Amino acid sequence: MTQKLYYENQYIKEFTASVVSCTEGKCGFEVILDKTAFFPEGGGQPGDTGFIGDAEVIDTVERGADVVHICAKAVSGEVECRLDFEKRFTNMQQHTGEHIFSGVLHAVCGYDNVGFHMGESCITVDFNGVVTSDELARIEKLANEAIYKNIPVEAIYPADGELENYSYRSKKEINGQVRLTKIEGIDLCACCGTHVAYTGEVGIIKVISVMNYKSGVRITLQIGRKALADYCEKNKSVHEISNLLKAKTDEITPAVERVLAQLHEARYAYSTLKKELFALKANEANGEKYIAFDDGGNADDARVFADLLAEKVGIAAVFSGNDDIGYKYTVVARERDVREIGKALNAACGGRGGGKPDMVQGSVAATREEIESFWKTV
Ligand SMILES: [Zn+2]
Repeated sequence: MTQKLYYENQYIKEFTASVVSCTEGKCGFEVILDKTAFFPEGGGQPGDTGFIGDAEVIDTVERGADVVHICAKAVSGEVECRLDFEKRFTNMQQHTGEHIFSGVLHAVCGYDNVGFHMGESCITVDFNGVVTSDELARIEKLANEAIYKNIPVEAIYPADGELENYSYRSKKEINGQVRLTKIEGIDLCACCGTHVAYTGEVGIIKVISVMNYKSGVRITLQIGRKALADYCEKNKSVHEISNLLKAKTDEITPAVERVLAQLHEARYAYSTLKKELFALKANEANGEKYIAFDDGGNADDARVFADLLAEKVGIAAVFSGNDDIGYKYTVVARERDVREIGKALNAACGGRGGGKPDMVQGSVAATREEIESFWKTV
């Protein structure tokens, strides 16, 4: 049985231990020490990493009463061990933050935490009930107030028969000795993970998003160091957008709305002009068949132009696009069935599409030259 130093003092970064066993496994060398500060994966918290001697610890897992360190190479004898404590501390912030948030949400709404995932960039917590945005804002505020109060985070090991005296949150049935994590006035929860000693160390809890999930909600949170990184990234984006729009950072939303309105107007004007241009070009068209290319246009442009052309010629074909992105096409005829032409076009030019007797539409992945040589066969 490994002596679990992380339960005696969760801030141990370096320690000396003796190798009890070292065997080659599927993912690396499986090392068991007489004692360890490496926390094994559990309760939604990832396993610790670091070094045992000069062997990198890739992961740490629990196996029965032992803690197994998955190492990149073999080790023996007495070893100096070092945790990646920055990662561990970040995990402790995330885990403790989740307790605070879930405890406050439970007090406000009565819902339970029924799922927890600690991801690379954020954490998600699932609750078995729907939380309104007003409730969420209140919960976020109360959770951060609990951080400012710097409340101690205690571990309690109730004796046999004593557990029933506690009212605690628990994610699942637990066998053997139960470890309760207590944050006075905020939360009491059965948990095997590592936590910071005082709530103040969590720094900040920020709700990022909420979505309906099963019969409740999935809430994405940013906590502690990761919340700061997220804030820095978002702040950078806001300043970049503000510079691009030449608007103050707190005025970028109306500035974006103005730009979108201008874009909408410009698009409308462009489309009106384009229709006029199509009409002028169509007036000059004549003959039994006619092909036109509309560089950079879209499928709607192709349809409008082909329709106008069909008033003047037997069969009209318009290809919108260019050689790099391919072409959207429309083929129209007033007195002929163009479906066969569409099929032949698709076969010759790697296209897809179809339609009615008087109009076929689709796209081709071919060059203008290839399309033009096909058109000669029509
Ligand atoms: Zn915990």
